[in-house]
Amino acid sequence: MKHLLKFLLVLMLCLPNLAAQQAKQKIALLLYNGKVFTADAHFTTAEAVAVDGERIVAVGTSSELRGKYQAAKEIDLQGKLVTPGFNDAHVHFLRGALSLLNVVLTDTKSLAEAQSKIAEKVKTTKAGEWINGRGWDHTIWKQNFPTRKDLDQIAPNNPVFLVRVDGHVGWANSAALKLAKIDRNTKNPEGGEIERDANGEATGILKETAQGLVAGLIAQPNQAQMQKGLELALDMARRYGITSVQDNSGYETTKLYRDFLRADKLTVRVSEWQDFEDSVERLKAQRAEFEGFKDDKNRLKLTALKGYVDGTLGSRTAAMLAPFSDDAGNSGIPRRSQEELTKMIVERSNADFQIALHAIGDGANRMALNGFAEANKTKFPCNLAGTTPTVKKVSGYDACVENRRNRIEHAQVISPSDFKRFEELGVIASMQPSHAISDKRWAGERLGEYRVLGAYAWHLMQSYRVHVPFGTDFPVESINPYITLYAAVSRQDAEGIPVGGWQPQEKLTIQEAIRCHTFESAYAEFAENVKGEIKAGMLADLVVHSKDLLTIELKEILTTETVYTIFNGKIIYEKK
Ligand SMILES: [Zn+2]
Repeated sequence: MKHLLKFLLVLMLCLPNLAAQQAKQKIALLLYNGKVFTADAHFTTAEAVAVDGERIVAVGTSSELRGKYQAAKEIDLQGKLVTPGFNDAHVHFLRGALSLLNVVLTDTKSLAEAQSKIAEKVKTTKAGEWINGRGWDHTIWKQNFPTRKDLDQIAPNNPVFLVRVDGHVGWANSAALKLAKIDRNTKNPEGGEIERDANGEATGILKETAQGLVAGLIAQPNQAQMQKGLELALDMARRYGITSVQDNSGYETTKLYRDFLRADKLTVRVSEWQDFEDSVERLKAQRAEFEGFKDDKNRLKLTALKGYVDGTLGSRTAAMLAPFSDDAGNSGIPRRSQEELTKMIVERSNADFQIALHAIGDGANRMALNGFAEANKTKFPCNLAGTTPTVKKVSGYDACVENRRNRIEHAQVISPSDFKRFEELGVIASMQPSHAISDKRWAGERLGEYRVLGAYAWHLMQSYRVHVPFGTDFPVESINPYITLYAAVSRQDAEGIPVGGWQPQEKLTIQEAIRCHTFESAYAEFAENVKGEIKAGMLADLVVHSKDLLTIELKEILTTETVYTIFNGKIIYEKK
């Protein structure tokens, strides 16, 4: 009897526990005791996220989720911040990947620092072999253009060719000039200049098309180099919590990505862009061929057609409505007439493609908007008053005129009356905050005191309810998302200049900036239903950060690091 009582007592004590254990749902991963910034429209935060398979299954408090789920792996975040994985809305991923195989001079602070990086490469390169690289910026070094002599000292036995950060100027050593047969008698090619010293000798600086004289001698990368470069770029993306990229590499590159995807090595989701310049027939044929592959479209897909309306502000080739303030008579160069551009846009829209046009100057932006307005008129009657909305597939996704989601890439200088048109036409302004803090050194002089108010104006753009996804234009800028966030909220360079921020009215809050680099980017690629927020049912792409971005001092954002990157439900990076 006594034994029986004792047994019953034990049973009573254990039963509720057993029941709870049995009721717990088994999942793969539980993050708890953190600060989960969901990046939804209300900037909601939570404490815990439950993940199973490739999806998020629940978001809530730690006690709630720990009571409900039993995870194969649990991570106590100890208060750390979690956000959705970053989605870089504008990269040149393959070009950037290949640049990682070469000398990277981005962020070098002096000629001496650049020389020591090149000297390192010389040590591991056989005599006679090419040394290539990119990313130098003499304005940061606070000097005139460097010369071949600066390279001859450190690389006497290798031809060297290094492209400036903007891609418009090359720097060669004497060995490279000799191979290219450039001497005092060589004429400048059309659209380019071989810079010469007082004695008429080439200095080693080759501007615009003159770069081709040397660049044309360098062998195209082979398959093995492309694979190696892509591995390095993917490793970098993992370390920065980047889980999606929208890519300028072109249709052919999807073959390389597909190989990586099938080997389960593609640790970012790729939205690849086709070339706007290609014929409609060719674009359709590519789309049809791509549709034939049955790989996961959430991990590799085609979205927009990428085209160019003008050049750059730095090289004064951006198409402006009025001349540059520091160059009277020069209003830049549109690539083609309005008529021709509009015709191409309309043709491609009629074939149901999303279009993404590079436009920097206020003139180029207006031309793109005019073209998109025409495309909206001839198709998708849902924007006309009194008609029933018609939903159609654009680039394979359901769309109507309000969300056909044509994009302007950069949208750098906008005339005051054109902000509203972005909203009216449903055009996305795909912007790169790091460009603003790089360009601020000279943008004011180029644009003058009034036009500069409409430059890099992401806050004004958002106040018109325009969708503003963030990207980096890697490798033009670093792919580091913490620099993007810092630039968006501070409008200052890494040194904190200018105090208070350049055109500070355009600052965003950190919450807004994170949403631009996650949700808004997803929207721009028709994917906001599967990623860009932390919500049950979404793909589990998450980043855990070393610091609380929401509360730290602005400068601290730059030294924040990714602690975990979770992609498609799996931990793909953990900071050691
Ligand atoms: Zn670009």
